[in-house]
Amino acid sequence: MAKGHISVQAENIFPIIKKFLYSDQEIFLRELVSNAVDATTKIKTLAAIGDLKGELGDTTINIHIDNDAKTLTISDKGIGMTEHEVEKYLNQVAFSSAEEFLEKYKNQASSIIGHFGLGFYSAFMVASKVEVVTKSYQEDAPAVRWICDGNPEYEIEAAEKSERGTDIILHIADDSHDYLEKERIEELLHKYCKFLPVEIQFGTKTHTEYEGEGEDQKEIKTEIPNIVNNPNPLWKKRPADLTEEDYKSFYKELYPMSQPPLFWIHLNIDYPFNLTGVLYFPKLNNTLEIQRNKIQLYSNQVFVTDEVKDIVPEFLTLLHGVIDSPDIPLNVSRSYLQADANVKKITSYITKKVAEKFESMFKADRPTFEERWNETGVFVKYGMISDEKFSEKAMNFALLKDTDSKKYTIEEYKELIKDTQKDKYDRLVSIYTTQPKDQYTYVQAAKNQGYNVLVFDTPIDNHFMQHLEYKGEKMTFVRVDSETVDNLVQKDEKRESVLSETEQESVKAIFTKSISNLQGGSIELKALSPEDNPVLITKPEFMRRMKEMQMMQGMDLGDMGDMHNVVVNTNHPLIAQKLVGMGEDQQKDMVDYLHKLALLNQNMLNGEDLANFVKTSLDKLK
Ligand code: ADP
Repeated sequence: MAKGHISVQAENIFPIIKKFLYSDQEIFLRELVSNAVDATTKIKTLAAIGDLKGELGDTTINIHIDNDAKTLTISDKGIGMTEHEVEKYLNQVAFSSAEEFLEKYKNQASSIIGHFGLGFYSAFMVASKVEVVTKSYQEDAPAVRWICDGNPEYEIEAAEKSERGTDIILHIADDSHDYLEKERIEELLHKYCKFLPVEIQFGTKTHTEYEGEGEDQKEIKTEIPNIVNNPNPLWKKRPADLTEEDYKSFYKELYPMSQPPLFWIHLNIDYPFNLTGVLYFPKLNNTLEIQRNKIQLYSNQVFVTDEVKDIVPEFLTLLHGVIDSPDIPLNVSRSYLQADANVKKITSYITKKVAEKFESMFKADRPTFEERWNETGVFVKYGMISDEKFSEKAMNFALLKDTDSKKYTIEEYKELIKDTQKDKYDRLVSIYTTQPKDQYTYVQAAKNQGYNVLVFDTPIDNHFMQHLEYKGEKMTFVRVDSETVDNLVQKDEKRESVLSETEQESVKAIFTKSISNLQGGSIELKALSPEDNPVLITKPEFMRRMKEMQMMQGMDLGDMGDMHNVVVNTNHPLIAQKLVGMGEDQQKDMVDYLHKLALLNQNMLNGEDLANFVKTSLDKLK
């Protein structure tokens, strides 16, 4: 037996590893199994090129818990190591100033591991002693055992092992006993190793088969290897070899509890960076609720993280699926990641792919595209608002929906309204409703005027509209109740009032006197069509949008945000003929009544006011 001293510059690295990497302890398994996979892949390559003497044989990696010995063992039948290699690879922690480095990056445990070849040493986060028994594939190489108990001292000796490969035996530390539990290891294998490219066995499982029929039916139970991974995940295959069913069942494998996805994009690129993956478009609600299923990031089929914020544009995090790229520098800090040229390219590649997918669906089958718009629209709008490049592309397929559920591209819509809804400033005025049912009267009035009314009924629409106003040339949006119908699209022509100036003044005086609470708004007299309502409530677009924005940011503008104007239609017979000739008391009653009706039309009467209104109206009928 030989004794040696692991060469690290900081005297004792293990306590440091243990302390700083504590929170990420569980990744030790990922590291050790990845090493086993690497060793197996290497032996397979040697066999493939004819450099392996003897049989390749079974290459399954085995994970085994021994509760009596309190060990967790990872065994592979990979290339193994000679004594010289053990010395070279396991004994030299090859970086300087370990302590200083760890101190600096202590919050990025998983970044350090891997980046500095600390993978193997992560075993010491959970083990009080690590044994490595290994036999190289090289002919006549004797097996060796390496033992280290967490000090820089190690022992190395000859070992009994007839098969090629490596066993990593972890003597689990007293404070880490959960790693001796079957469920915990299963969970970790599922999290990190489910798509590793070499079969991984964790114990056995019972397989039940039935033989015979009816009363004679026999149950035959056999123990079969419990393979925990799918070494050949879908994203590594060629799209041409895959069916729709394949994609759907892979989605189910990833997210067993979810509804089937709407569609998907298979990513496959090898230049200027390497990336494969499948992104699924899930069924979304109208709101941008936080999605439970996250995109999973892999590096050569090893699970790395499902925090992909820095790699995919924010709006794409609504998608589900897998991205696999060895070119994403996973092992460095966040800020570096954001500045990394590869990451930038990957981001724009994915954005481009997603936009292209939408465009091709739009072109290939517009009816289906329109049908799905309820689900995909929120996503596309979100994408347009948050990503310039995506927005440019999406201008071709983003849809606007009107109150008759007809859908238009932005260009089509501009064409539709260009003659009817251009105002005196040469702007195209799009009129929209947020609630077609509640704003029914206003919608009807606009339609009677020959206008088209869009439906903007999702929370994102507010931002989307502003985005279009900002982008689209001379496009502006007004809510259907923000103005009287004559004024939605401001034109120069004015309707004549049937009342004289003095009569108008007295109407205004009657209203001012009778209406007490105006909440900052004003009373306006307008010569509208006699067909329009006698009194209308309008909510100025600007104030309303301000309020909506403030509310989203959790602020309250108070009454100012609820500001509304009372518009009196001086051409309506009730005003033009009746009101002017009434006595003072009757006038007050009439104004009150018409005002309440207008508020009611806007759903602006509170419960008490409404009850009173109903009561007085009934009293009048008596
Ligand atoms: P890394 O994997 O990043 O190189 P590790 O500390 O995990 O760093 O491993 C160091 C080296 O030890 C590996 O590069 C490999 O040469 C060797 N090694 C580790 N585990 C095995 C194994 N199971 N079989 C063969 N060699 C191994």
